[in-house]
Amino acid sequence: MSLLAVEDALQRILEGIRPTETESVPVAQADGRVLAEPLAATRTQPPWATSAMDGYAVRGADVAEAATLNLIGQSAAGHRFEGELKPGETVRIFTGAPLPAGADTIVIQENVGVDGDLITMPATETGRFVRPLGLDFTQGDELLREAEILSSVRIALAAAMGYSQLPVRRKPVFAVLSTGDELVLPGEKIGPDQIIASNNFGVAALLRAQGGASVDLGIAPDDPDAIAAKLRIAMDGGADVLVTTGGASVGDHDYVQDVLTSLGVEIGFWKIAMRPGKPLMFGRCGGKIFIGLPGNPVSALVCARVFLVPLVRALLGLDAAETYEDAILGADLPANDQRQDYLRATLARENGKLVATPFSRQDSSMLATLGQSDALIVRPPHAPAASSGMPCKVLRMQAIT
Ligand code: AMP
Ligand code: MG
Repeated sequence: MSLLAVEDALQRILEGIRPTETESVPVAQADGRVLAEPLAATRTQPPWATSAMDGYAVRGADVAEAATLNLIGQSAAGHRFEGELKPGETVRIFTGAPLPAGADTIVIQENVGVDGDLITMPATETGRFVRPLGLDFTQGDELLREAEILSSVRIALAAAMGYSQLPVRRKPVFAVLSTGDELVLPGEKIGPDQIIASNNFGVAALLRAQGGASVDLGIAPDDPDAIAAKLRIAMDGGADVLVTTGGASVGDHDYVQDVLTSLGVEIGFWKIAMRPGKPLMFGRCGGKIFIGLPGNPVSALVCARVFLVPLVRALLGLDAAETYEDAILGADLPANDQRQDYLRATLARENGKLVATPFSRQDSSMLATLGQSDALIVRPPHAPAASSGMPCKVLRMQAIT
């Protein structure tokens, strides 16, 4: 199989992806979830004309010129004044309280003179400090759209619209497996030839930050039966996507492709024109998606950023298209070969321009430089040499966590 272009690989992964089903969640637990249906207000807000201030409800005609009015009662939030305001009368009123029948204007309390039940009013324009019925929204107004991410503000709005439960997309479940005899979990006893597994944590965190759910399958040794056993658990357990890291190349100890084939996975591709991340594997089986990420930590996380983030978005019914930002290079770059390059870089604002400065060493094992990067400079295949100050495209890394 020849090297597949990144865009083609992504297109194949996203082909035929349908959003997950709808589930209902309490509004108190819906933050960050994706709305599965448009929502219309079940009520009108405010449901009656209401006072915007603490003061006195009056008839505008009474206070067109200064006047003294008779206090006949009060209207507080949650406790309306039941009577009707007649000419020459006023009702004490507080913010959020319904306007009494007959009243159309509020005079703020700071501006009146009080002498027992006689209230002296300043000249006031009719309609001041009244919030009319439906100022905010009206029953039936479609205020939230399908495929909107429920931010704090939208959660508040949905609650105000009368929803205690919200229809959201089920979180797509990603099962993540690390493979390698050399791997141990952080905190575990570590042998002389071992290193700490990190990919699984980073990949799972990235997926969760995008609205997915993750299942940690732990570490499988470089043994086809052990890898297959772990994957079978996830296949039976309802994962939508099975993600492995490591063991995806052509070394003697790379078993992922054989294992996937033995499980009946139809391999779509397993090598792409990308650096870091050439040995990326993709397949499908029984409605499930299999992604074999490379083992090198930077390759694993950059491939997760480039392929799994759009996949989560597509599974949530969101637009999967990527936003590349324009920047200028902070260093010279040599001509590129046939692989699309993703260079770790820092970003800085200089004279209003975004400057992307690549790290001088880009080895795919160097996780520390990825940790210090703000973005990846994306260089298309065969890009000519470029000098500092020339335009480039960047893909945010940290902003997307
Ligand atoms: P592999 O793709 O299995 O040949 O692994 C490539 C490199 O990535 C090796 O140096 C592995 O030790 C390393 N590696 C593989 N899996 C992980 C992991 N989960 N966390 C950190 N490093 C890993
Ligand atoms: Mg390995």
